[in-house]
Amino acid sequence: MTQAFVGLGSNIEAPAIQLRRACEALAALANTGLIAVSSVYESLPMGPRDQPPFLNACAQIDTTSDPATLLTDLLGIETAMGRVRKRHWGERCIDLDLLFYGNTSVQSERLTLPHPGLYQRDFVLKPLGDLLGNEYLMPNGVDIGTLLRKCSTHGLRLSAVQLHRGEIPGNPL
Ligand code: AMP
Repeated sequence: MTQAFVGLGSNIEAPAIQLRRACEALAALANTGLIAVSSVYESLPMGPRDQPPFLNACAQIDTTSDPATLLTDLLGIETAMGRVRKRHWGERCIDLDLLFYGNTSVQSERLTLPHPGLYQRDFVLKPLGDLLGNEYLMPNGVDIGTLLRKCSTHGLRLSAVQLHRGEIPGNPL
Protein backbone atom coordinates (compact mmCIF):
# COMPACT_ATOMS: atom_id res chain seq x y z
CA MET A 1 0.00 0.00 0.00
CA THR A 2 1.46 3.36 -0.97
CA GLN A 3 0.37 6.79 0.23
CA ALA A 4 -0.16 9.21 -2.65
CA PHE A 5 -1.58 12.70 -3.09
CA VAL A 6 -3.79 14.07 -5.84
CA GLY A 7 -4.25 17.77 -6.64
CA LEU A 8 -7.74 18.76 -7.72
CA GLY A 9 -8.68 21.93 -9.59
CA SER A 10 -11.76 23.28 -11.36
CA ASN A 11 -12.86 26.68 -12.63
CA ILE A 12 -15.94 26.11 -14.80
CA GLU A 13 -19.31 24.31 -14.69
CA ALA A 14 -19.93 24.65 -10.94
CA PRO A 15 -16.42 24.00 -9.57
CA ALA A 16 -17.57 22.98 -6.08
CA ILE A 17 -19.76 20.26 -7.56
CA GLN A 18 -16.93 19.16 -9.86
CA LEU A 19 -14.53 18.77 -6.93
CA ARG A 20 -17.10 16.80 -4.99
CA ARG A 21 -17.75 14.49 -7.96
CA ALA A 22 -14.02 13.98 -8.44
CA CYS A 23 -13.60 13.01 -4.77
CA GLU A 24 -16.44 10.55 -5.10
CA ALA A 25 -14.76 9.08 -8.18
CA LEU A 26 -11.43 8.80 -6.30
CA ALA A 27 -13.19 7.04 -3.43
CA ALA A 28 -14.71 4.57 -5.92
CA LEU A 29 -11.43 3.64 -7.68
CA ALA A 30 -10.35 0.01 -7.63
CA ASN A 31 -7.32 -0.75 -5.45
CA THR A 32 -7.41 2.77 -3.99
CA GLY A 33 -8.92 4.23 -0.84
CA LEU A 34 -9.66 7.89 -0.19
CA ILE A 35 -8.10 8.74 3.17
CA ALA A 36 -8.67 12.49 3.52
CA VAL A 37 -9.48 15.65 1.58
CA SER A 38 -8.05 19.09 2.43
CA SER A 39 -9.84 22.38 2.81
CA VAL A 40 -10.80 24.05 -0.46
CA TYR A 41 -9.01 27.19 -1.69
CA GLU A 42 -9.81 29.75 -4.33
CA SER A 43 -6.86 30.77 -6.52
CA LEU A 44 -6.19 33.01 -9.48
CA PRO A 45 -5.48 31.18 -12.75
CA MET A 46 -1.83 30.51 -13.61
CA GLY A 47 -2.45 30.82 -17.34
CA PRO A 48 -4.66 33.22 -19.31
CA ARG A 49 -6.31 35.80 -17.02
CA ASP A 50 -9.62 35.87 -18.93
CA GLN A 51 -10.96 32.86 -17.06
CA PRO A 52 -12.66 32.40 -13.68
CA PRO A 53 -10.70 31.71 -10.48
CA PHE A 54 -10.05 28.09 -9.58
CA LEU A 55 -11.14 26.02 -6.65
CA ASN A 56 -8.29 23.75 -5.51
CA ALA A 57 -7.92 20.98 -2.98
CA CYS A 58 -5.74 17.93 -2.33
CA ALA A 59 -6.77 14.36 -1.65
CA GLN A 60 -4.77 11.77 0.24
CA ILE A 61 -5.15 8.23 -1.03
CA ASP A 62 -3.81 4.77 -0.23
CA THR A 63 -3.28 2.60 -3.25
CA THR A 64 -1.92 -0.71 -4.44
CA SER A 65 -2.04 0.49 -8.07
CA ASP A 66 1.32 1.35 -9.62
CA PRO A 67 1.86 5.02 -10.60
CA ALA A 68 1.16 4.48 -14.32
CA THR A 69 -2.13 2.72 -13.57
CA LEU A 70 -3.10 5.41 -11.11
CA LEU A 71 -2.41 8.12 -13.71
CA THR A 72 -4.60 6.21 -16.17
CA ASP A 73 -7.32 6.12 -13.51
CA LEU A 74 -7.05 9.88 -12.93
CA LEU A 75 -7.17 10.68 -16.65
CA GLY A 76 -10.17 8.34 -16.90
CA ILE A 77 -11.99 10.33 -14.21
CA GLU A 78 -11.22 13.59 -16.07
CA THR A 79 -12.58 12.13 -19.31
CA ALA A 80 -15.67 10.68 -17.63
CA MET A 81 -16.36 14.10 -16.10
CA GLY A 82 -16.30 15.65 -19.56
CA ARG A 83 -12.98 17.48 -19.45
CA VAL A 84 -12.21 19.13 -22.79
CA ARG A 85 -8.67 20.40 -23.45
CA LYS A 86 -8.97 23.80 -25.10
CA ARG A 87 -5.88 25.92 -24.42
CA HIS A 88 -2.73 25.51 -22.34
CA TRP A 89 -3.41 26.36 -18.68
CA GLY A 90 -6.94 27.27 -19.72
CA GLU A 91 -10.30 26.71 -18.10
CA ARG A 92 -11.27 23.17 -17.15
CA CYS A 93 -14.13 21.49 -15.35
CA ILE A 94 -11.65 19.19 -13.62
CA ASP A 95 -7.90 18.79 -13.39
CA LEU A 96 -6.39 15.89 -11.46
CA ASP A 97 -2.63 15.83 -10.91
CA LEU A 98 -0.73 13.00 -9.27
CA LEU A 99 1.40 15.14 -6.96
CA PHE A 100 3.54 12.45 -5.40
CA TYR A 101 3.44 8.73 -4.83
CA GLY A 102 5.41 7.74 -1.75
CA ASN A 103 9.02 8.60 -2.48
CA THR A 104 8.85 7.26 -6.02
CA SER A 105 10.50 9.20 -8.83
CA VAL A 106 9.32 8.69 -12.40
CA GLN A 107 10.49 10.47 -15.52
CA SER A 108 8.65 9.13 -18.53
CA GLU A 109 6.93 10.63 -21.53
CA ARG A 110 3.57 10.20 -19.85
CA LEU A 111 4.32 10.70 -16.18
CA THR A 112 6.62 12.86 -14.06
CA LEU A 113 6.79 12.16 -10.32
CA PRO A 114 6.84 14.11 -8.16
CA HIS A 115 4.64 16.43 -10.26
CA PRO A 116 6.82 19.17 -11.82
CA GLY A 117 4.77 21.98 -10.22
CA LEU A 118 4.66 20.45 -6.75
CA TYR A 119 7.21 22.67 -5.03
CA GLN A 120 6.29 25.95 -6.71
CA ARG A 121 2.52 26.32 -6.31
CA ASP A 122 0.79 27.67 -3.23
CA PHE A 123 -2.55 26.22 -4.31
CA VAL A 124 -0.98 22.76 -4.02
CA LEU A 125 1.29 23.28 -1.01
CA LYS A 126 -1.31 24.96 1.22
CA PRO A 127 -3.87 22.13 0.99
CA LEU A 128 -1.06 19.58 1.37
CA GLY A 129 -0.07 21.41 4.56
CA ASP A 130 -3.65 20.96 5.81
CA LEU A 131 -3.32 17.21 5.39
CA LEU A 132 0.28 16.66 6.46
CA GLY A 133 1.24 19.67 8.59
CA ASN A 134 3.69 22.35 7.43
CA GLU A 135 6.61 20.51 9.10
CA TYR A 136 6.19 17.55 6.77
CA LEU A 137 9.25 16.84 4.63
CA MET A 138 8.36 16.57 0.98
CA PRO A 139 10.11 14.06 -1.32
CA ASN A 140 12.86 16.66 -1.98
CA GLY A 141 13.62 16.80 1.77
CA VAL A 142 12.24 20.35 2.28
CA ASP A 143 9.32 21.00 4.63
CA ILE A 144 6.01 22.33 3.29
CA GLY A 145 6.21 25.56 5.34
CA THR A 146 9.58 26.50 3.82
CA LEU A 147 8.37 25.70 0.32
CA LEU A 148 5.24 27.80 0.93
CA ARG A 149 7.31 30.83 1.93
CA LYS A 150 9.36 30.56 -1.27
CA CYS A 151 6.73 29.64 -3.84
CA SER A 152 4.79 31.78 -6.28
CA THR A 153 1.49 33.18 -5.00
CA HIS A 154 -1.87 32.97 -6.71
CA GLY A 155 -4.09 35.12 -4.48
CA LEU A 156 -4.98 32.08 -2.40
CA ARG A 157 -8.11 32.36 -0.24
CA LEU A 158 -9.83 29.77 1.91
CA SER A 159 -13.17 28.87 0.32
CA ALA A 160 -16.39 28.15 2.20
CA VAL A 161 -16.78 24.97 0.14
CA GLN A 162 -16.39 21.82 2.28
CA LEU A 163 -15.29 18.48 0.94
CA HIS A 164 -14.32 16.85 4.20
CA ARG A 165 -16.06 15.77 7.39
CA GLY A 166 -18.33 13.16 5.89
CA GLU A 167 -19.30 15.22 2.83
CA ILE A 168 -17.83 12.57 0.52
CA PRO A 169 -18.97 8.95 0.69
CA GLY A 170 -15.90 6.92 1.56
CA ASN A 171 -14.09 9.85 3.17
CA PRO A 172 -13.93 9.09 6.86
CA LEU A 173 -12.73 12.56 7.96
P1 AMP B 1 -2.70 18.62 -17.61
O1 AMP B 1 -4.01 17.91 -17.37
O2 AMP B 1 -2.78 19.68 -18.64
O3 AMP B 1 -2.10 19.05 -16.32
O4 AMP B 1 -1.69 17.55 -18.22
C1 AMP B 1 -2.06 16.22 -18.33
C2 AMP B 1 -0.91 15.40 -18.91
O5 AMP B 1 0.25 15.54 -18.12
C3 AMP B 1 -1.33 13.95 -18.90
O6 AMP B 1 -1.64 13.54 -20.21
C4 AMP B 1 -0.17 13.21 -18.32
O7 AMP B 1 0.33 12.25 -19.22
C5 AMP B 1 0.88 14.27 -18.05
N1 AMP B 1 1.48 14.13 -16.72
C6 AMP B 1 2.79 13.96 -16.48
N2 AMP B 1 3.03 13.85 -15.16
C7 AMP B 1 1.82 13.96 -14.53
C8 AMP B 1 1.42 13.91 -13.17
N3 AMP B 1 2.30 13.74 -12.17
N4 AMP B 1 0.10 14.04 -12.89
C9 AMP B 1 -0.80 14.23 -13.89
N5 AMP B 1 -0.49 14.28 -15.20
C10 AMP B 1 0.83 14.14 -15.53
